[in-house]
This record gives sequence, structure tokens and C-alpha cells, in this order.
Amino acid sequence: MFIGHYAPAFIAATSRRSPKLGTLFVAAQLIDISFFSLLLLGVEHLRLVPGATKMNPMDLYDMPWDHSLVGALGWALGFGLIIRLLGRDWTAAAIGATLVLSHWLIDLLVHRPDLTIAGRPPLLGLGLWNYPAIEIPLELLFAFGGLWWFVSRTRAIGAAGRWSPVALAFGMAALQAFNWLSPQPTAIIDPAPASTGALGLFAYGLLSLLAWWVARTRQLS
Ligand SMILES: [Zn+2]
Repeated sequence: MFIGHYAPAFIAATSRRSPKLGTLFVAAQLIDISFFSLLLLGVEHLRLVPGATKMNPMDLYDMPWDHSLVGALGWALGFGLIIRLLGRDWTAAAIGATLVLSHWLIDLLVHRPDLTIAGRPPLLGLGLWNYPAIEIPLELLFAFGGLWWFVSRTRAIGAAGRWSPVALAFGMAALQAFNWLSPQPTAIIDPAPASTGALGLFAYGLLSLLAWWVARTRQLS
């Protein structure tokens, strides 16, 4: 999953007690933001293996700090505390923390067994990345069903508020298409090139900025 991770962010953002959509977009991908950052720093590791799964060549063999359940819980707690320290109440903090954790649970659907409880086997993952006929419609339903939910429960503040969700939809569609359609490696690349981590961070940054703009230009109806 990539843009499918945003479904819980769209739904949570229609609660008055929740942090804003931009914050929730960061939360929904925080453990990937950690992974791609630690990849660039050489702390966690990834190699590209043709056919690792049908849809995705990533052999995610070393990501204990964020894609273990314990690691994800740590990030969730930290993110919730930051929201509280920035002045929001404990409900908003709990929603933010839950969003962080939702990433690990959604990853569990699509990853082949490479997720862990605490950084070592058993390896967990239901492997929907090997079933594109299920994964692709599910991802599109999550992402655009979520956006529809958000748009139908908010209204535009001025003209910008009518266009900001369209821009976000285009951004999500374009980056997901790039993710699905870019050529797969034909040989093992170990370690994965730095561009893998940099591209991931760029995509999450861009979509979070668009979500921040959507939140500024729409209000709950
Ligand atoms: Zn992930």
C-alpha cells in the first residue's frame, strides 16, 4: 500500500477532535518516513529483488526500528506526545497515535512476511502484493473512497477549497501510477539505490503539503 494508507487520515479528519489532515497525512506514513530516512542513513536496509512480490521488488529484510509492532508503537507514542505538547488535547493525541499505528496494520495486509513483532521472527504479512487483482482495487478504494468521505463532509472556503481536493487527487493518482508503472529491476540491486529512499520521502512530503493545503481551504460542514 502507498496511497491506501491515507484512508484512515481522511476519515479521522472529519472529526472535530482530530488533528488536521496535513498532520494526519504525516502520521499515516510516519513509519515509512522513518524507514526511508534510516535507509539513507544506513541504519536500516533494503535490497531490490526482481519478483520479490508481483507488484513490488522490495526485499524488506531489515527494518526493526519502524516496521516491527514494538517500533511502530514507539513512533505512535512519540507522535501522540508531540501533538499533546503542541497544545492539542489527549483525544487529538490519541487519534494521531492511532493513525501512526494504522500504517503497520495496513502494511500487514500487503507485505509478504517481512514485518515483525519486535525485530526478529516470526515474520508476518498476508502478501496482497502478490495478488494485484485484489490489491489494486483495494488501494484505489481506500485512497479515493477516503477522499470522497472527507470531501462529502467538508465544504470549501472560497475557490481554492474547491480545487485543493482535485489537486490532492491528481497528486495521489500520479505518484501511485509512478509507483506501479515504473520499470522493475532485472537483477538484484543490493543495497537499493539512495534514490529509493529519497523518492519515498519526496512523495510523502508532497502529499502532506497538498493535504495541509486542503485542510486550510475546507472546513467541516
Ligand atoms: Zn510501511
